[in-house]
Amino acid sequence: MDCLVCKNAMITLEVRDVEVDYCNDCGGIWLDAGELELLLDDPQQAKKLINSFKIDSKCSEKPRKCPICRKKMQKIIIGSSTPPLLIDRCPKGDGLWFDEGELQDIVDRAKLDPDNKIQRLLADMFGSKKTDEVTNTQ
Ligand SMILES: [Zn+2]
Ligand SMILES: [Zn+2]
Repeated sequence: MDCLVCKNAMITLEVRDVEVDYCNDCGGIWLDAGELELLLDDPQQAKKLINSFKIDSKCSEKPRKCPICRKKMQKIIIGSSTPPLLIDRCPKGDGLWFDEGELQDIVDRAKLDPDNKIQRLLADMFGSKKTDEVTNTQ
């Protein structure tokens, strides 16, 4: 799958049983339908979060295209905080797009358990960049 922002090929990261598409160039994350729920690992919390989604019909940002069905994606406002947190959602429900930092933002705002899967996923993705591979002695 290609990144919907910079068009580069995305890499697939597997966190437990959830496959996440990640763009190494712009830091964006694509989640297929249902994956956010799996990552949150808390059906109540996930339901609350998803129920807070509102379509922003007057957003001036250029719409992005869904990497699966190619339809223009909707801007979704999450929660009621200011400035509003906006993500992109496929109108057919294929999935959700998070620009760099937005997934972390959602975790922060949702006040999730710090040991939830998203925190671990983000640590895997961004923490490992700093780890040097000196253990490979061959
Ligand atoms: Zn990208
Ligand atoms: Zn779609």
